[in-house]
Amino acid sequence: MKRIPEPFRIKMVENIRMTTAAEREVALEEAGYNPFLLPSDMVYIDLLTDSGTGSMSDRQWAGMMMGDEAYAGSRNYYHLESKVKELIGYEYTIPTHQGRGAEQILFPALIANKKAKGAAEKPIFISNFHFDTTAAHVELNGACAINIVTPKAFDTTTYYDWKGNFDLDALKNTIKEHGADNIVAIITTVTCNSTGGQPVSLANMKAVYDIAKQHDIPVVIDSARFCENAWFIKQREKGYENKSIKEIVKEMYQYGDMLTMSAKKDPMVNIGGLCCFRDDEALFNEVRIRCVPMEGFVTYGGLAGRDMAALAIGLEEGMDEDFLSYRINQVKYLGEKLREAGIPVQYPIGGHAVFVDAKLLLPHIPSDQFPAHALNNELYLEAGIRSVEIGSLLLGRDPQTGQQKPSPMELMRLAIPRRVYTNDHMDYIVEAFIALKQRATQIKGLTFTYEPPVLRHFVSRLKPIDNDK
Ligand SMILES: *Cc1c(COP(=O)(O)O)cnc(C)c1O
Repeated sequence: MKRIPEPFRIKMVENIRMTTAAEREVALEEAGYNPFLLPSDMVYIDLLTDSGTGSMSDRQWAGMMMGDEAYAGSRNYYHLESKVKELIGYEYTIPTHQGRGAEQILFPALIANKKAKGAAEKPIFISNFHFDTTAAHVELNGACAINIVTPKAFDTTTYYDWKGNFDLDALKNTIKEHGADNIVAIITTVTCNSTGGQPVSLANMKAVYDIAKQHDIPVVIDSARFCENAWFIKQREKGYENKSIKEIVKEMYQYGDMLTMSAKKDPMVNIGGLCCFRDDEALFNEVRIRCVPMEGFVTYGGLAGRDMAALAIGLEEGMDEDFLSYRINQVKYLGEKLREAGIPVQYPIGGHAVFVDAKLLLPHIPSDQFPAHALNNELYLEAGIRSVEIGSLLLGRDPQTGQQKPSPMELMRLAIPRRVYTNDHMDYIVEAFIALKQRATQIKGLTFTYEPPVLRHFVSRLKPIDNDK
């Protein structure tokens, strides 16, 4: 596959240290066979997440020096607000400390409005797929999160352009079943992180919006990877091949009423988020009031002035077409090389990550022994690379029955930070997988030595199961 060279020069470097196999063995045992508990200086290539791990540009760093740290009315806030108007077309902007900050101030306001109109005690949010903190904020506020992504997303081996799309029949049926009066909002997540950074088409976004408007349901665009989604639309959707990313982004946001954004993804800041409204001034004012006690005063929302400066610049850099071609092709290069080596991955490759199908690669490990987590540990031992399990370990137990919830997939996510690793690093990752594949049948499943009651994947401790004993 053709490599697209980096559209940047490297101006500053951060040294990273290669560890020995013996050092890694000790470190992993001390971390309870849970890479989340590894100190990061024991990791050579860190693919845990693409969130807040990107490299800022010289322009963003220059912006940091121009921070106006006034408590109220910072110049950087007005600049950010004007960039959102220009690039996204939304009138009202609230900065937040990150994406979940936007969720925690927006969702209670939406629920209160729906209940004032007579919604049920436990109303519903519908999404193609709720991100984990998004689902958590829905549930913490007493509502219920329903995912209705296309079933094609769960077949990793079969190509489909739009594995992030809503299943429109399921959307109509879910609205009918629960009653439009009980649906708080529809959340369109672009790209769909949970199915592998897979895009949502404009046709699907428009159809979802039309259905929502027939029923007077607000649409929230969960926007962490809006630029990557726009790039896929330009490549794959008929009629958009000659449109600019800027034009496509503008159109995407016509099919929403408001947005939440983790700016730690596409806008490449280390911290920051947004909560913006197209034209609903009343709702904007309600959410602003919630911002003050939770995130901070309405013109900083938990960010320093300098952070808002870097975010405003990052919004525009994230949409640069040369950057996006390089970015998505780097991820694709890694994914296609892994496929060539016979490693099963979610196909086509998504925008920000390669998802390895551990159920297919390690069929001898049952899901309650966490095949994707076992693979993650082996990758670390082999080459000092850290990634993350998205499967049974993450999903956890049913709080009512205490049983492991059945997971539709056992995936290992290799998330690629933006502008951080070179294409040579990608080759190094592929070589590590080739070595792993040769000893795949010997890889062992895991069992808990400590299992916390909630969010167990972060702090649980495990040990390999010895089948010979
Ligand atoms: C990361 C992410 C969030 C949450 O954002 P944070 O900045 O991590 O709080 C929400 N939705 C999606 C799709 C995400 O990827």
